[in-house]
Amino acid sequence: PLLELEGVVKHFKSRDGKGSVRAVDGVTLALQPGETLGIVGESGSGKSTLGRLMLRLHEPDAGSIRFEGEDLLALRPGALRLRRRQMQLIFQDPYASLDPRFSVGSSIAEPLVIHRIGDRASRRRKVEELLTLVGLEPDAARRYPHEFSGGQRQRIGIARAIALEPKLIVADEPVSALDVSIQSQVLNLLAELKSRLNLAYVFISHDLAVVEHISDRVAVMYLGRLVELAERRRLYREPAHPYTEALISAIPEPDADRRRQRIILSGDVPNPESPPPGCPFHPRCPKVFDRCRTERPVTTDVGQAGDPHLVDCHLHGPRA
Ligand code: SF4
Ligand code: MG
Repeated sequence: PLLELEGVVKHFKSRDGKGSVRAVDGVTLALQPGETLGIVGESGSGKSTLGRLMLRLHEPDAGSIRFEGEDLLALRPGALRLRRRQMQLIFQDPYASLDPRFSVGSSIAEPLVIHRIGDRASRRRKVEELLTLVGLEPDAARRYPHEFSGGQRQRIGIARAIALEPKLIVADEPVSALDVSIQSQVLNLLAELKSRLNLAYVFISHDLAVVEHISDRVAVMYLGRLVELAERRRLYREPAHPYTEALISAIPEPDADRRRQRIILSGDVPNPESPPPGCPFHPRCPKVFDRCRTERPVTTDVGQAGDPHLVDCHLHGPRA
């Protein structure tokens, strides 16, 4: 695998300093080179924290993270810096990575400057190549971020993220701020870059329709844990976890014959400072039964050989 996480935990101190928030509470997963793993969940499920842990932008409290087999957590600053060239983050708001005072060309070239790659002339050529690759005119380099639309700015953010030729991009809600028509253009661009540059993506979103469009496999996150993980088609056709089922039932479906009965979940995501006992989803689960209230489900593979479909739910557990 390109990236492997095992038992990764990250707790933050709560605002009042007395408790702790279990943002990520024991996540295990592996990502292959060139693969796109979608991570979906409501806000507060821990998806963004998980994405940042993958790049070691947060230090986990427990667990291991390996990139190309190398223990990311053991790397000293110099070696980590070199590794970081191969893993980049794309944000929801491209402004977060674009300084409005810098020309687009300088923003895209900045990672090359930081890592001392090439000279001025070769960097300028590289910036023009990158702009073309993301579907912008080379002369965009001389202009400023405010002169571009949201979709164009996200293209600039992507050009900057691929400048160092990474192997992995963690994209955190990269199209959530864009109009639907622009969303699909940016998703298509990401898909095209993936095959041209053999990129792997971790694609984080609350929007299941967007994740379905781009992912090879999809993980569903709830209160800091992955509650279901499967190949994309399988997850959307045969969700095994009642939470996934509810999320999928809420995707707008224009075709009346394919429309599912919408499952309405009661309540909000519980406070991650005091997650419910037993199955963390039990207070909202339409299929809850006695055991769910006291016993935490273990991860079970309900897939076929060679095609794992992992789920944390007593309905599928060893004693189901
Ligand atoms: Fe629902 Fe019980 Fe399964 Fe949890 S373990 S998802 S409460 S059925
Ligand atoms: Mg987030």
